[in-house]
Amino acid sequence: MSLSAVVRYFLRPYTRHAERKSQQEGDHDGAQVFRLAQLPRCGISLLSYRDLWQPVEKCIQMYFKLRFSIQREVYLRAKHDVLYEEINANPSTKVPSTSVDEMQTYKKELHSLRETNCNLERETYRYINTLPDGPLGRMLYAHAEQKDWYLSNFLRQECARSGGCCGRECGCCEKPRIDKHPLHKSHCTSMCLCCEDARGYPVEVERYENDPMIVDVFLCGYRNFSRDYLRCWINDYVFGFE
Ligand SMILES: [Zn+2]
Ligand SMILES: [Zn+2]
Ligand SMILES: [Zn+2]
Repeated sequence: MSLSAVVRYFLRPYTRHAERKSQQEGDHDGAQVFRLAQLPRCGISLLSYRDLWQPVEKCIQMYFKLRFSIQREVYLRAKHDVLYEEINANPSTKVPSTSVDEMQTYKKELHSLRETNCNLERETYRYINTLPDGPLGRMLYAHAEQKDWYLSNFLRQECARSGGCCGRECGCCEKPRIDKHPLHKSHCTSMCLCCEDARGYPVEVERYENDPMIVDVFLCGYRNFSRDYLRCWINDYVFGFE
C-alpha cells in the first residue's frame, strides 16, 4: 500500500464527516471531492482497483444496455409500422410473403423487447439504489441523481462525433425516446432512427456491446484509451465535476 493510500485510509473518518456536511449543505461538488479523498488513489491509477470498480462498471453497463434496448424498441416499432401500412394500404394487391414474415418477426421481437425493457429499467434503478456502500458507489449515485447529468459537453461531443443527434438541431437526446419510458433520456445509438435517416444506411447490430456508437471503456479495456479520454469519460459517467 502506498503512503498516500495509508494517509487517505486514516483520514477517512474526517473526510466521511466532511462529505456528509457538504451533502447536507447541498454542495454537490464538495461532497464529491471528499468522497474522492476516501478512495485509495485519485486519477486514472484508481482504475486498477478492479474490486472497487466492479459494481460501478455493472451499473454503467446496465444503463448502456437500457439505452440501446429502448432505442431498438422504437426502431423496430417504426419498421413494423411501415410494413403494416404497406401491407394494409391496398388489400387487393398481392403482398409478398417475405414482407408478411418480416412484419411477424418484428412483432415477435417487439413483444419480448417490451418486457425486457420494463424489467431492465426497474433493475437498473434498483441496482443503483443497492450499490454496496462505499465512496465510489456514492459518487455514482450522487452524479446519477443530478438532472440531465448525461448532457455534459464531453458526452454531447462524443454523441456528435459518432454521428449522433447532438451534432444536429433535432434535439432527440434531450427528450424521452419513448412515451412508455418517460424517465429515460439518452444519447444516440445505432438504433436511433433520426441518425439512420441522416446517415442514409442502417447499422445492423443487436446488442449494445457491438454498437459502434457506444463507448464502454470497461468492455474495451481501459488501457486502450488515452489518459485524457479516460479522465473525461470517468468524470462524466461517475464523478460529474464541471
Ligand atoms: Zn440520433
Ligand atoms: Zn435526431
Ligand atoms: Zn446526443
